[in-house]
Amino acid sequence: MTQPKQPTPGTPGTPGSPGSAPSQAERSWLEHKPETNGKAAGVPEGLWKRCPNCEAMLYAKQVAQNLHVCPDCDYHYRIDAIQRIEQICDPGSFEPMWSNLSPRDTLGFHDRIPYKERLKNEQEKTGQNDAIQCGRAFIKGRGVVLAVMDNRFMMASMGCVVGEKITRAIELGTETDRPVIIVSASGGARMQESALSLMQMSKTSAALARLDDVGGLFISVLTDPTTGGVTASFAMLGDVILAEREALIGFAGPRVIANTVRQDLPEGFQRAEFLQEKGFVDRVIHRHDMRSEISRVIDYAGK
Ligand SMILES: [Zn+2]
Repeated sequence: MTQPKQPTPGTPGTPGSPGSAPSQAERSWLEHKPETNGKAAGVPEGLWKRCPNCEAMLYAKQVAQNLHVCPDCDYHYRIDAIQRIEQICDPGSFEPMWSNLSPRDTLGFHDRIPYKERLKNEQEKTGQNDAIQCGRAFIKGRGVVLAVMDNRFMMASMGCVVGEKITRAIELGTETDRPVIIVSASGGARMQESALSLMQMSKTSAALARLDDVGGLFISVLTDPTTGGVTASFAMLGDVILAEREALIGFAGPRVIANTVRQDLPEGFQRAEFLQEKGFVDRVIHRHDMRSEISRVIDYAGK
């Protein structure tokens, strides 16, 4: 499932913006996002950002240097695939593969806008063909096959391209005896590719079974959020499952579950720490320690 894009209040093209000239009273300050308002206030764009958890005003550069973690409360900001690769891999060691694979609108799917158009918009916005980066890399000198999902692209939903690239990454790990690391962050299966996206669940799982047959190592890293068909397939099949602190990990959303079971959900439900307590996650890792932890697991596994 992907989250439909909602028009932001006050952006051009929505009612109450150009043409209808709203009064000052109508234009709540809440409508102005700091990112777009910075210039008007004489502050360079993106210089400061507010922590959504502790609400501290933070110097954006300092947050970036801290691996996009709030220095005050340890809140982990969501990061894209490129940032993730830079944080985990040895500098310059990532060698992207299969970047030319591009999604197709096989079903002629239309939701709010045609899928074809949606893809074009997302590709222009992110400069990527789809929601994943795969390739060979080194982590603290250890050779790995790495796949990183990018939630800027349609909430990193899994369609045919994501499924195919993950499968190829697993197969490369199987052939070369390199550990396979998949960093998940996904809204789940891509509804615009319907049953074809669901088939990626079995395809990736079958590839992992073959990796397992030859004694390969798969480290699954779950980040905020990992949900839906991704949780229900490869993400939960790791030999070792690591999760970033407080990451949302689940199949269906908490509201859907609460309505189905008609019970109040326990505190911390679907958060990484809760899943570790219940045995679904092996270790919850602070972002600062992720690189060392992955290399340690590789050594423990004798790879
Ligand atoms: Zn904070």
